[in-house]
Amino acid sequence: MRTGQKHFGVELTNWAIWYQAPAIVKSVYDKRIVGCPGGEGEDEHDVVWFWLEKGKPHECPVCSQCFKLDVVGPGGPPDGHGDDH
Ligand SMILES: [Zn+2]
Repeated sequence: MRTGQKHFGVELTNWAIWYQAPAIVKSVYDKRIVGCPGGEGEDEHDVVWFWLEKGKPHECPVCSQCFKLDVVGPGGPPDGHGDDH
């Protein structure tokens, strides 16, 4: 079942590789919004939201975790108007 374009955030399965490699964020578009909540326990921080773009790894300014976009399929610009609520 697909969750649609309003599903933001990083899959929890990526948490385990945080300290060894960039977190890979899959997207069907060339960019998407990603939220970083930090690690577990004392490494946790308020969720920071940012746009992650294809070919442009992003480092969280709070915990320095690196994110990398993995485009699934043909990619392209995000559908919709970017409006929330
Ligand atoms: Zn972070």
